[in-house]
Amino acid sequence: MRFEFSAGGIIYKKEGNQISVLLCQHAQHHGWVFPKGLIGDNIEGESKEATAIREVKEETGAQAKIIRPLPPITYWYVWEKEKIKKTVYYFLMEYTGGDTTKHDTEMEDVEWLPANEVEKRLTYKADKKVWQQAIMLVNPKRFDF
Ligand code: ATP
Repeated sequence: MRFEFSAGGIIYKKEGNQISVLLCQHAQHHGWVFPKGLIGDNIEGESKEATAIREVKEETGAQAKIIRPLPPITYWYVWEKEKIKKTVYYFLMEYTGGDTTKHDTEMEDVEWLPANEVEKRLTYKADKKVWQQAIMLVNPKRFDF
């Protein structure tokens, strides 16, 4: 078995009273997920935070700033008969700009969803859990989820 560590973002934008959240459909496994990528895969010594910002930009076209870290999630999967335990460090992030039609091919679809539709669109249980934590950790006076 081996371990993998990734970082990514739960990105929101606020327009009037409406909060939208950025979700992606993975081009290989077709699950609906938050954008993320392996830490230190492209740039040696890259921090979790820098990885999250870079991966969000590459996979969704969005620029976003980190608001706060979220509790890490873990899951297991098998790749070429090897069991892999993956830990993902997501950050709550606020959209600052960028064109979400200009993303790389790792995602086949990138979509802004109203906050109340996120849970049912997400494919994986661990992602639903961190989404719930994101909602609870956010100050309800600032963000009306
Ligand atoms: P990364 O984006 O971190 O570089 P990746 O795109 O190469 O990773 P993953 O998204 O980790 O790969 O997908 C690897 C396997 O794990 C796939 O079979 C996928 O279906 C599964 N998987 C992805 N996310 C989760 C999750 N949150 N919970 C359980 N299984 C998941």
